[in-house]
Amino acid sequence: MNEERRARDGPETDEEALVGECTECGQVYSLQRGADGTVVPMGTDGVCQCGNDEFEPLSDL
Ligand SMILES: [Zn+2]
Repeated sequence: MNEERRARDGPETDEEALVGECTECGQVYSLQRGADGTVVPMGTDGVCQCGNDEFEPLSDL
């Protein structure tokens, strides 16, 4: 079978919204993935409140 079904409604976009946490303090953010594959927390300058700029996407939500 080569059938893929997505449970989500709505059109797909180039930007994929996801959730992730800071690798330093664990603060959870809504992340936005850019075309180059990097993720940045929405509503910030690209860094966590603790100053860290690495985030681990959470795929289970
Ligand atoms: Zn942090």
